[in-house]
Amino acid sequence: MKTSSVFNKTKYFIIDMDGTFYLGNRIIDGAPSFIEKLWDTGRDFRFFTNNSSNNVAVCCEKLAKMGFPVSEDRIIISSHVTIDYLKKNYPGKKVYLLGNERLTADFIAGGILLTETDPDLIVLGFDTTLTYEKIRKAANRLAAGVPYIATHPDFNCPMADGFMPDTGSMIEMFAASTGRRPLVMGKPMTQTVDYITALLGCERDEIAFVGDRLETDIAIGMNHNIPTALVLSGVTSIESYRRSGINASVVVKNLAHLGDYL
Ligand SMILES: [Mg+2]
Repeated sequence: MKTSSVFNKTKYFIIDMDGTFYLGNRIIDGAPSFIEKLWDTGRDFRFFTNNSSNNVAVCCEKLAKMGFPVSEDRIIISSHVTIDYLKKNYPGKKVYLLGNERLTADFIAGGILLTETDPDLIVLGFDTTLTYEKIRKAANRLAAGVPYIATHPDFNCPMADGFMPDTGSMIEMFAASTGRRPLVMGKPMTQTVDYITALLGCERDEIAFVGDRLETDIAIGMNHNIPTALVLSGVTSIESYRRSGINASVVVKNLAHLGDYL
């Protein structure tokens, strides 16, 4: 057994989902044993995903289908951080949202006013229903200078049969077209750390981030002095980690091995 003091103060592990807890439609071998270890050591967890094309119900359904049912309050999505930020910083403002039907429903449920004409600001989510018409409309408003927020920065989203371009790629497209760059939410941004600690009622040193992506899951910890664990079960190999210049507190093959550090 390995021992480490890295997670001595950790009350909540903030666990990424894709590539960390499951891969495609399968739970990664031994991942539930890590959750058992959390219970055994008096700790708790939340899942956090940047993927704003999903909502809590979809995430819960997917986990339940794979044999790991969780309650809805254990899932946090970059869209939640964005909605919270909008309510605090742009109360009552009208948003032109680039998002699919699930993200749109979450914004409406969160009390955000949506409009397609004359918006006060543009929010770019992971819009899996993006059309040229939406791109054109948003680009024209961006060029006019309205405030601009994106739910998360990921360039690509892993799929069972490859990947698809994610919100970060659309950020680059709009930047090329309009010269505008958004204020980004989700991992690795400070707004996400603040949202999580407020939601859980804890301090920064009482959480730890676990994930497979260096520039989001690990960078958020590195940038805020919060412990991190990189799992090599997803998009990052040990070679690409060594080349990256990003430092995780611990590096493990998968979640099951992280249990040895508790
Ligand atoms: Mg991941």
